[in-house]
Amino acid sequence: MKFVISDPDQMHELGIQIAGVLSAGDLVLLNGPLGAGKTTLTRGIGEGLGAQGTVQSPTFVLARTHRTTAGPKLVHVDAYRLQSALELDDLDIDFANSIVVVEWARDYVDGIADHWLTVNIDRTALDDVREVSILGNGSRWEGVEIASRD
Ligand code: ADP
Ligand code: MG
Repeated sequence: MKFVISDPDQMHELGIQIAGVLSAGDLVLLNGPLGAGKTTLTRGIGEGLGAQGTVQSPTFVLARTHRTTAGPKLVHVDAYRLQSALELDDLDIDFANSIVVVEWARDYVDGIADHWLTVNIDRTALDDVREVSILGNGSRWEGVEIASRD
């Protein structure tokens, strides 16, 4: 699935749309350079799930856990400063009962899950325009559509 996103509000909206297909046990990997909009998208996911507290860059804590009105906790991980998959393992995330969103996941999540959603955010020649492609991995995501609202 590919989307052209023209401003931060649309990125937030896309996050809300993504939240609509997420449930406990889901893992979302966000790829894209600094300033791409990974945290902005996560904020939308948080709104869609009814997350408590402010979704913000977890850079200094590695992971933030938010309770949600949707049920499963939202765990927001910033893997930027992680050195290895082992360090991710050390965070002791309750993957089965949470929705886990990871910024800068690289290959640290190999073997952690048998299904995940990859979101690639690319900058374009236009300052605020992003190309977003979403790919579901594993049978969990077969036939799942994320609709853009515009
Ligand atoms: P990341 O987490 O990928 O480093 P952030 O979401 O923290 O990125 O920051 C993205 C920055 O880019 C914000 O300041 C936001 O206002 C700006 N921005 C401009 N256009 C967009 C867009 N289309 N989508 C998301 N953010 C955008
Ligand atoms: Mg970020």
